[in-house]
Amino acid sequence: MEQYDAIIVGGGPGGLTAGLYTSRAKMKSLLIEKKWPGGQLRNTELIEDYPGFESISGSELADRMERQARNLGLEILLDGVDCIKPEGVMKKVQTEGGREFLAKAVILTSGGEPKKLGVPGEEELAGRGVSYCAICDGAFFQGMEVAVVGGGDSAVEEAIFLTRYASKVYLIHRRNEFRAQPIAIDKAKSNGKIEIMLDTQVKSIHGADEVEYLTLLRHGKEARLDVKGVFIFVGFIPNTQLWCGYIDRSQNGFIVTNANMETSVPGLFAAGDVRDQLTRQITTAVGDGTTAAIAAQHYVDSLEHRGTA
Ligand code: NAP
Repeated sequence: MEQYDAIIVGGGPGGLTAGLYTSRAKMKSLLIEKKWPGGQLRNTELIEDYPGFESISGSELADRMERQARNLGLEILLDGVDCIKPEGVMKKVQTEGGREFLAKAVILTSGGEPKKLGVPGEEELAGRGVSYCAICDGAFFQGMEVAVVGGGDSAVEEAIFLTRYASKVYLIHRRNEFRAQPIAIDKAKSNGKIEIMLDTQVKSIHGADEVEYLTLLRHGKEARLDVKGVFIFVGFIPNTQLWCGYIDRSQNGFIVTNANMETSVPGLFAAGDVRDQLTRQITTAVGDGTTAAIAAQHYVDSLEHRGTA
């Protein structure tokens, strides 16, 4: 079984940063990513809140991060991770492709999946008007009216993005106040194609083959909204299940770490969207990845010092 000093699970900004730091520290490092290095960056068109870049496309930032980490010696394997478990003082990482690796330290940066709204019609019409990715599907709605559901940064930013294609975007939020950053809300409010619908819930999604209309509960009364697409951005569920065993989690299911990104399992670190924290930004993922890598380096040094690895 091939052995590494550090295995990083997940190739988003947190994972690529962790890999950059472990590689720079001359630790033998492997990053395993299921889809493509860059993670959610690849689904983000423009990034305007990453210091040093007033505006950069998500895919370009991902390319740069990947190139920099590889140049420092990070190995990247495209495969899904099935299970990470203890193996003596080491961790065993098993992949969906049937590979097995041993690592002295594992850094989990596995992010999360979009949360479902959980209303009738959502599952049935997924991919036929119901979408969780504006960059992937927005162009299908050229000249059409669409709805965006949610009140966080994702919903507000993606609603703005969708105005490139859609003739009108209804931004539907269940409360009277947004959770998103004020600058994004101001942009949405001043965009003539966006109609904000507060105190409004989507009760069901309808259509024979494709989305035709939504049934809403608006200010406590039932209403119908005709749209061709509905984009759902109501948060996400962290991918914590890759650790096959007990680990401390928050009430919402995120992995609990201390300030050094150490989880309740010695030698297992968590960084980025998968861990419990105030916010989930590219900058915070990058910071987490840095801390996790340096803490992992100290952990591996201490194992070697004790002669246990
Ligand atoms: P989020 O901040 O958790 O917001 C989820 C939104 O969906 C909330 O407004 C919530 O309503 C609403 N919601 C949840 N469940 C719902 C349901 N069943 N029905 C209707 N509405 C529901 O999620 P996010 O927007 O995906 O953002 C995730 C993290 O990424 C955040 O920390 C965010 O700041 C960050 N992010 C940052 C950027 C950026 O910096 N540019 C961009 C995107 C995301 P309530 O408000 O009523 O709870």
